[in-house]
Amino acid sequence: MDIDRAKLKYKINYNPVTFNFSNKTYENGSEVYSKYEYARANHWKCDKCDFRCTSFRKLKQHKVEQHSY
Ligand SMILES: [Zn+2]
Repeated sequence: MDIDRAKLKYKINYNPVTFNFSNKTYENGSEVYSKYEYARANHWKCDKCDFRCTSFRKLKQHKVEQHSY
C-alpha cells in the first residue's frame, strides 16, 4: 500500500468533534458527549472493530496488533 492511500484510509476514520449549540453537547459522528474531553478521547475509530482511541499513533498501533496492517 502506498502512503497516499494509507493517509486517505485513516482520514476516513477521523471524526472531528463538533459543538451542538442547541443542546450544549459535543458531537463526534453519531456519538454525543457532555464534555469536550470525552468527545476528543474517542475521535479515532477503528474501521474493523469498535476500538476507539485518542491518537492516530495509538490507532495505527492497534491496527498492526489486532488486524496485522
Ligand atoms: Zn480494530
